[in-house]
Amino acid sequence: MILKVICNPDELDVDYHQKVSAFENILSAQRDGNHVVYCDRKLIRHFRGSSHLSSSSLQTISELHFLSREYKTVSNEISVVVHVLFDRSHYVNNLDANGQNIIEISYDYFNSTLRVQPSTLIPENDKDFDFFKIIADGYLNRKSNYNFNLKLSKHCGYGSHTYSVYSEYKSSQKLALCIVDNDVKYPGASVGSTARQFGQNGFCIDGTVEAKMLSVREIESLLPEEVIEEALVSKGYPANSIDVLEKMKRLEQISSGEFRKYFDHKDGITLKQALQPSWSAFWKDFFVAEPTFGIKPCAQNNDCIECGSCIKLDGFGERILEKSLEVMDDSHKRKLFERLSGIILEEWEAIGEKVIAWGCAPKAGRARAS
Ligand SMILES: [Zn+2]
Repeated sequence: MILKVICNPDELDVDYHQKVSAFENILSAQRDGNHVVYCDRKLIRHFRGSSHLSSSSLQTISELHFLSREYKTVSNEISVVVHVLFDRSHYVNNLDANGQNIIEISYDYFNSTLRVQPSTLIPENDKDFDFFKIIADGYLNRKSNYNFNLKLSKHCGYGSHTYSVYSEYKSSQKLALCIVDNDVKYPGASVGSTARQFGQNGFCIDGTVEAKMLSVREIESLLPEEVIEEALVSKGYPANSIDVLEKMKRLEQISSGEFRKYFDHKDGITLKQALQPSWSAFWKDFFVAEPTFGIKPCAQNNDCIECGSCIKLDGFGERILEKSLEVMDDSHKRKLFERLSGIILEEWEAIGEKVIAWGCAPKAGRARAS
């Protein structure tokens, strides 16, 4: 994250040593590549050459002097930023200023070195984490003024535990971003059990954590079609799996981009499922073009009584995310972004922006190399 130090050097007298020790910890976050630290020039001038700082802190201060113009700009742009307040103690607060979310934290929070560890990303599982990283890398590539690395610890929630992992970070006031699927199975359906635990107003910044819900059923909904195609062609899928993709593309098109928001990309959907009350208003129409639709008793009766041969819109199987990640790992991240459109582009941008805000870190040794 960006830790913006808000400190008037003229007001450092009270608890001076404690403040200096917090400041040194904050500087170590920059040095260790965990967080981007922005100090204004006045503060840098105050501490440059100060006998109260260690030599490594002094080194970091002179790097920050070099980077301060660049960091000043991005610290105003990025969507979530931490302001470290040196005129308060025992204080954490959230503010919204001109569309930017500010997490105000008093300096004493940083008296422990544990508090300058990288932020944590809490996804539902490992593959989700890898996907979010690919998206964030692509986002970073497009933002020419974001000279950052991405650095995040990972703590998977594995579905049902996601909320408790998130709550633990929240109550221990550690910096963490949590992202969950919405698991909505048709328009108007309620969110799934994982998202539901967060409550209706739970997707926001709360103290030192933020929870974000994807606006699609599952993360596979965000895989670009070209990537799925490449995975199907090059990762050992049967030849007819391309037909599954072609059908999905057609249904996506005729639904103006609604189909994939709710489609189960792994397992697909049967007519039996589609005919369930409240599902059928959305799902039944997608089956009409199926060759056997007109002669299936289930379709006519609007009910399937274990017909044993239900029509199915196939999915791509359990491993489609994993295989697609392999494809994306090998491709140019920036190009990946350039081909996106519609809701996938919107979601990639929203995810990229959040993950970068929480995970941006300095590039090692930039100032010294320049
Ligand atoms: Zn049936």
